[in-house]
Amino acid sequence: MAKKTIFEDCDILVVGGGMAGTGAAFEARHWGRDLKIICVEKANIDRSGAVAQGLYAINCYMGMQWDENQPEDHVRYARNDLMGMVREDLGYDMARHVDSTVHMFDEWGLPMMKNEKTGRYLREGKWQIMIHGESYKPIVAEAAKKSADKIYNRIMITHLLMDESKENRVGGAVGFNMRTGDYYVFRAKTVIVAAGGASHIFKPRAVGEGMGRTWYAPWSNGSAYALPIAVGAKMTQMENRIVLCRFKDGYGPVGAYFLHLKTYTQNANGENYEKKWYEHTKEMVGEYIDHHPTPTCLRNHAFIQETMAGGGPIHMVTKEAFQDPHLETVGWENFLGMTVGQAVVWASQNIDPKYTNPELTTSEPYVMGSHATCSGAWVSGPEDLSPPEYFWGYNRMLTVDGLFGAGDTVGGSAHKFSSGSFTEGRLAAKAAVKYIEEQKAQDINVSDKQCEEFKKIIFKPLENYTVGRNEITGGTVSPSYISPIQGLQRLQRIMDEYVGGIATNYMTNANMLKRGLELLEWLQEDLENVGAEDYHQLMRAWELKHRALTSQCVTEHTMFREETRWPGYYYRGDHLKLDDENWHCLTVSRRDPKTGKFTLEKVPVYHIVDEKEKKQAS
Ligand SMILES: Cc1cc2nc3c(=O)[nH]c(=O)nc-3n(C[C@H](O)[C@H](O)[C@H](O)COP(=O)(O)OP(=O)(O)OC[C@H]3O[C@@H](n4cnc5c(N)ncnc54)[C@H](O)[C@@H]3O)c2cc1C
Repeated sequence: MAKKTIFEDCDILVVGGGMAGTGAAFEARHWGRDLKIICVEKANIDRSGAVAQGLYAINCYMGMQWDENQPEDHVRYARNDLMGMVREDLGYDMARHVDSTVHMFDEWGLPMMKNEKTGRYLREGKWQIMIHGESYKPIVAEAAKKSADKIYNRIMITHLLMDESKENRVGGAVGFNMRTGDYYVFRAKTVIVAAGGASHIFKPRAVGEGMGRTWYAPWSNGSAYALPIAVGAKMTQMENRIVLCRFKDGYGPVGAYFLHLKTYTQNANGENYEKKWYEHTKEMVGEYIDHHPTPTCLRNHAFIQETMAGGGPIHMVTKEAFQDPHLETVGWENFLGMTVGQAVVWASQNIDPKYTNPELTTSEPYVMGSHATCSGAWVSGPEDLSPPEYFWGYNRMLTVDGLFGAGDTVGGSAHKFSSGSFTEGRLAAKAAVKYIEEQKAQDINVSDKQCEEFKKIIFKPLENYTVGRNEITGGTVSPSYISPIQGLQRLQRIMDEYVGGIATNYMTNANMLKRGLELLEWLQEDLENVGAEDYHQLMRAWELKHRALTSQCVTEHTMFREETRWPGYYYRGDHLKLDDENWHCLTVSRRDPKTGKFTLEKVPVYHIVDEKEKKQAS
């Protein structure tokens, strides 16, 4: 069914040209002058990934040149927000390099807002700096395009290739061009997976004709997780899904509103509802509720409890701030550079925030490793910081040799955001070059047989459709194949109803998870029979398969952690309290590629930053 097979051999293959992928392509060229570097992108690198529409703030900038923050401060911040559960080695490593990334963005022409009095970057909050960021993505894409030997747009990577001469070593990746139908084989010495996080694995609030309107980019389909999971790479913290408090229906961001406009929230009676839930939350999580700033999940928790208790709708009080013409402009521009849809929703609902306080909502859960949660791959840290359990030779290398990750792909290191993801791409690329230079990628063998087998697997949904449609006598429903949208809706319902989505107010328990796992397994069986009528639907079919595998991993992790560590992100009804005695640890899983079975383990969480300081003091 594929038209042509195209082979491309290279040294470094970057999968996904979003923030982390562009950072990786750029840095790979810096260290590997003579290496062949290829970047493969599902969309078009100029407008792809979560930053496609632009951003209004760079959310991670230390400001070390002015002693605004140090990397240690950022580690403490991320640790606090994630209720203790972060890889501090990875967080510190990203934070110590992130400023240099932002300075390059500035040099490359990204319009940065400046504080008129100090001349410094204009702060939105302690970590955020404000930009006119509509062209953020084209600017970083240009750096990648100038660095890589080739950028392939419109190719979806579906599988990683494995070396056949050495166990557990990567050998490249395969995929297809969804415009031409050509099959692509990239044989590579190293692969950097930078394919973004996962939306649409839980049923979204907006369904039917509005289902594309989610907070997270609807095209982020979890390839960053499914690709490594499928080859047996270890994953971490996959239970740590994220739920966002955002403006209702448009999912417009609230950061600039809280931090810059100093707006605040209240319930329908005009009360500060967060205070009301203090004792209740303390009962569940103990002293974590007294931390400053309040961890994001706990603020969500108050929102969810208040709504369940009948105090909704919850509003953002904008009427006061919007009386100031400057703040009013900032409020609107915030959307125009990032989420135009929110402005359109308000216009359509007759909401002028100067006169009406807009409603907020909590989103369906998403899986991602770069925002305020840290699901993703279990990677090696940098040699100067990481304890032995966290270090196996090359920074950001997964537990499969030669396979690296960055951005949403990498678990345990939250609050990287756009700048930190680009930075992590740079770190991964530098290590990948070292891996090649140290002769670790010699004699990689990927047979034609392996490539041919994947070709059959990848294009099978087209065959399912072509054969199966002959059995249809009326309408569009086939007795022998399911369409990608049918499969997606089934997946979303399983995740929503059993794994802690909006249907249950984020509640789940072992019995529900067990049932969810059964249903997911049956879904996997049926996905063998997904049918695709064209190359675009073939992409949808593979997006679905990646989402389904990611979902299994999320569900296994959620089952394993027998506590409620992040109320407001999800609740284990059978273990409704945070349990530091038994669960102050990271969770790590591995799926056996032969059997498809997951095994899980606890791994110690090391609080490196303050340990280091304690040692220095003594
Ligand atoms: C709604 C939203 C708002 C945000 N706001 C801010 C903000 O204000 N400030 C800030 O600093 N950060 C913000 N972030 C965070 C920032 O966007 C992410 O941290 C960053 O984009 C992550 O980088 P990444 O490269 O891992 O993923 P992405 O940038 O999403 O890139 C992933 C890339 O992989 C491609 N891809 C996916 N699957 C495949 C495949 N199978 N084959 C080939 N290519 C594939 C995608 O098309 C995409 O280009 C926001 C994120 C979201 C979702």
